[in-house]
This record gives sequence, C-alpha cells and structure tokens, in this order.
Amino acid sequence: MAGPPHPPPVPRVGMAEMLRGFFSVFRYSRSAIGLVRDTNRGLLAALALLTLFAGLMPAGIAWVGARIVDAVVRAMAAADHDAAAVLRWVLLEGVLVALLAGAQRGLSLCQALLRAQLGQRVNVMILEKALTLELRHFEDSEFYDRLTRARREASVRPLSLAMRTFGLAQNLVSLVTYAVLLVRFSPWTVSILLLAGLPAFIAEAKFSGDAFRLFRWRSPETRMQNYLETVLAREDHAKEVKLFGLGERFLQRYRAIFHKLYREDRALSIRRDSWGFALSLLATGTLYAAYGWIAWSAAHGRITLGQMTMYLLLFRQGQGAVSAILSAVGGMYEDNLYLSTLYEYLDTPVPARIGKAVQGPNPADGIRFEQVTFSYPGATEPTLNEVTLHLPPGRSLALVGENGSGKTTLVKLLTHLYEPDSGRILFEGRDVREWDERALRERIGVIFQDFARYQLPVGENVGAGDEPHFEDEARWREAAVKGRAADFIAQLPQGYQTQLGKWFRDGRELSGGQWQKVALSRAFMRTRADVLVLDEPTAAMDARAEAEVFEHFRQLSSGRITILISHRFSTVRMADQIAVLERGRIIEQGSHEELMARQGHYAQLFSLQARGYR
Ligand code: ADP
Repeated sequence: MAGPPHPPPVPRVGMAEMLRGFFSVFRYSRSAIGLVRDTNRGLLAALALLTLFAGLMPAGIAWVGARIVDAVVRAMAAADHDAAAVLRWVLLEGVLVALLAGAQRGLSLCQALLRAQLGQRVNVMILEKALTLELRHFEDSEFYDRLTRARREASVRPLSLAMRTFGLAQNLVSLVTYAVLLVRFSPWTVSILLLAGLPAFIAEAKFSGDAFRLFRWRSPETRMQNYLETVLAREDHAKEVKLFGLGERFLQRYRAIFHKLYREDRALSIRRDSWGFALSLLATGTLYAAYGWIAWSAAHGRITLGQMTMYLLLFRQGQGAVSAILSAVGGMYEDNLYLSTLYEYLDTPVPARIGKAVQGPNPADGIRFEQVTFSYPGATEPTLNEVTLHLPPGRSLALVGENGSGKTTLVKLLTHLYEPDSGRILFEGRDVREWDERALRERIGVIFQDFARYQLPVGENVGAGDEPHFEDEARWREAAVKGRAADFIAQLPQGYQTQLGKWFRDGRELSGGQWQKVALSRAFMRTRADVLVLDEPTAAMDARAEAEVFEHFRQLSSGRITILISHRFSTVRMADQIAVLERGRIIEQGSHEELMARQGHYAQLFSLQARGYR
C-alpha cells in the first residue's frame, strides 16, 4: 500500500499549544459568516436576530415560571383563592414558549434556504479558481487532494460552521442571561456552573486537537481509498478491472485501509468518551450539590418556592448550555479543518499573467526554440535539453523519438503550459512569455494524444476545437468532413446531436479510431490557427489512413506551421523537416532525404520499419 506504513503516534502537546489549537476553532468562523453575508445579507440578518432572540428566551421562560409558582403560593395563602394572576403568568409563559418555537423554526428555515445558495456559491468559487490554475497544479498530488476535498464538502461545511458559530453565540447569550439571574441567588453558583464545565472543556479541546492531527496525517491513505473507490466504481476502469480480475484485490486494499483507520479512530473515540463520562459525573455531582444548596435555602425560607424552581431550572439549563457549547466546539474543529483546506486552495498563489502581447514583431519568423531546457518539478534529469529549432510559416515538422523522449513536452512548452528553465521560445519573433496567453493559444491548435473525450453531443466534441463556434453546426460539419468523421457521424442515431459516453441516457460509445477522427475534426475547427499540432492522434488508424490524413492536413494547412508527432515513418517522411529526439535532445534534424543520406539514427529506424512492411 502506498503512503507511510505507520503514522507517528499522536504526540503529547503542551497546554499553551492546546489552547492555541482550541482558539483556532474560531479562525474560520469569521470567514464562514463572511461567506454567508456575501451570499445573502437578508438571511444573515435574520439568522443573527433569531439567534439573539432564541438565546434570550429560555431565561425569560424560567423567570416567568418562578412568577407562576409564587403566584400559586400567594393564591393558596389568600382567603379568596383568586387565580387570575396565576393564569396571566401561565398565558405569558405559553406565549413565550410559542415564540421560542417560532424562532427555532425560523432558524431552521434560514438554514435550509442558505444551504443551497451557499453550496452553489462555494462550488462556483472553487471552479472559478480552478480556471486560473496552471497545469502543474493539477499534477501535484497534495494540491489535487485539496481540490477534491474542497469540492466534496463544499455544500455542507461552510454552512455547518456558520450555524455552529451562531449556535455557540445563542448558547452564550443564554448562559449570560442565566448568570444574571443566578447572581441574585449567589455569585458562587455562577462560578460553580462555569468551573464544573471547565474540565470537560479542556478535555474537548485536547481530543478535538488530536482528532484534527489524526485527520491530517491520514490524508494519503484517505486519498488512496478514494482512488480505489473510483477505480472500482467508474465505467472507464470497469473493463480492465473485470478482465484482469483486479476487483477483489482492490476491494481488499480498500478494506485494509478502513480497518487501519478504524483502529485509530476507535482508540481515540474510547479515550474521548471515557474521559467524557468521568467528567460528566463531575458535572452531575456539582449540579446536585448546587441543587441541595438551593433546596436548603428554600427550606430555610431564604428564597421563595418560585425562586427555587427558577434557580434549579436555570442551573440545569445552564449546564445544558455548557455542554451544547462543548459539542459545538468539537464540531467546529472539523468544519475548520475543511475550511482551512478550502482557503488554502482558494489562496493558492497563481502567478500574475504578465504577457499582454497579441502579436509578434515578425510574423514571418514562425516558431523558434533557442537552447530550451526544461525539467518537470521533482525530476532529476531535464526532460528537454538545449533544444534549438526553427520553423517558418508554411513548413511542416515531424517529431520522432522513443516514448518519453520529450516530444509532447516540447509541444506543452510551445503552448506555454509550462515555462522553460532556461532558453527562449519565440513565436513570431516574440518570447511566448510576453504573449497574452489567450491570444497565443488562439493561434495554436493542438490535439494531444490523450485528448479529452467529452460526454457531450458528438457535434460539441468537434466544436470544442474553436470555442466561439462551440455550437455552430455548420462549422462542425465542415470540420468533420476534413477530419474524416462525417461519414460515421451521419450514421449515428441523432447525427451531430448524438450524446457520447455512458454517463448520460442514450450515450453512445465510440471506437478508439472514431474518437481520433472526432479529435482530428476538432483540430480542423481552428480555422484561424497559424500553428497546428497533432500529437499521435492517428495512432489508432491504419498506416494508410494516417498518411492520407496527414497529407490532407498539410494541404489544408498551407501557409501554416504544422507539427506532427508520429511513430509511422511513412507519414513522417512527408514532413518538410524532421527532428529526432533522444532523451530530451535533438540528435538529428533535416528533411527525409538529408537524414537518409546521413545514414544516422533516423535512417536506421526508417529502414527497420520499412522492412517490417515489406
Ligand atoms: P513523449 O511525448 O516523447 O513520449 P513526453 O514529453 O510525454 O514524451 O515525456 C518526456 C518525459 O517527461 C518522460 O520521461 C515522462 O516520464 C516525463 N513526463 C511527462 N509528463 C510529465 C509530467 N506531467 N510530470 C512529470 N514528468 C512528466
């Protein structure tokens, strides 16, 4: 299994660190409430008012309860047994209870309304950010993890944190009002109430902190578990998983990860709940001691019967509020963990796009690579090493070389998906770094070997090649004719509107070669592009079809630069210029005839393949 075999044991942390961790609970509460505010100000105001109201009500109800008991006692003692006052108080309490119930309903209504809006807002924020990121971000596992986690819980966590923060505020308001009433009995009761809650509070802070750290360490394991889930439950993997009989093994790994995580969870839960029980005994003990004291005071006539009922109620509800605060804090830790992931993701620095140029000073210069060296992050050896190339408009270039020699990487650099470590890439005499990214990419049409297979109508799959004409059916048709997809598309049940892929109803699956024709047509959508790049998009076609496609491609792209990556020398030889790459270096360059005459690497590979065809 990937990842560290044993996470380090949860370390003991000092008091100061624990408290710091504890207060960090509130760090993202502000952000969460800010999100709510930006989503819907009216609902935030309603939430705040209802929270305050719901916080004040219980003490009010307790106070009225005391008035009821005292009025009853007075009526019993009086000669006429007039109970009108009693009934008035009872009526008032009924009204207050109804109002409290209304406030609670209102709170849950606001919550329901906010849930959808806030979830949508956070999802859009996540996706908007994703649009600004660079390719390297998506290839970084930690980052990718953050992104998926942020996406998965986007609809619940921010709301949960905001609601828990409000819940906390509500209980604090109640606690203060209880304290105000209790102080009249004795300031000590207030201290007892708070002190009795303190140990449980500290324990909660500690255990929540442990849970938080445990959660962080697990990230690689959880990620593996998610990945296995994807492999086992997604259509694109199902075929191989079945044929190779990998299912049981993967499921076994999935289970093993669960059991390992479960053991750790269980240990923490047992500790947490044992301590929780011990400390709750302490709280109950305190409660009954205070009860005894209050009852004793009533028996000695220091307080009225009504006051006794009120104080007992206040004390009991006070403890309830303290424990509600504790559990809110525990939940807030988890929500904070999520929000920290979300904000780490949203705050991912994206280098400012400095390039502004929309054209180069010298269009006749075409493409120029000058001593370009590039390594992927974390790689020990450069993937491209001092590559120098020049391609004027109207010329075609074929890149040949073994798998992994750097052909695709060269194209990625040309389109500024990555930046070279050293050297320069010029387009129309201007460094690609100075180009406005959108303008540059509009000029270059690329179909990579792992082109995207959108689960959209086949027409849109073609249209994707030229965004402004994404839905332009006339253009789809033209492009499909050039890409040789028109014939098979005409035979699909709904023609260009046929849904592709298995995710949606009536989705059709295409063969590998048909997909490649769709991809080729996509390249032909780019009628404005000055550079067209085909990275092995014809590998699933037979050699003759590939040669035809390329010849066609060249004719249609006269005056443009075309770059072709292929392992078929029958196609490669048609290019004006051929560059042979080996481990990131260009080892030979020239036309087919020149390279054959040199009797070098190219000539050797060419005759090897030619012999195979004879
Ligand atoms: P080719 O197109 O010639 O088959 P590539 O340009 O795709 O080769 O890859 C060149 C080398 O760079 C390979 O060794 C590959 O492992 C590495 N490589 C390719 N893509 C990445 C990536 N996104 N991150 C890290 N290394 C990569």
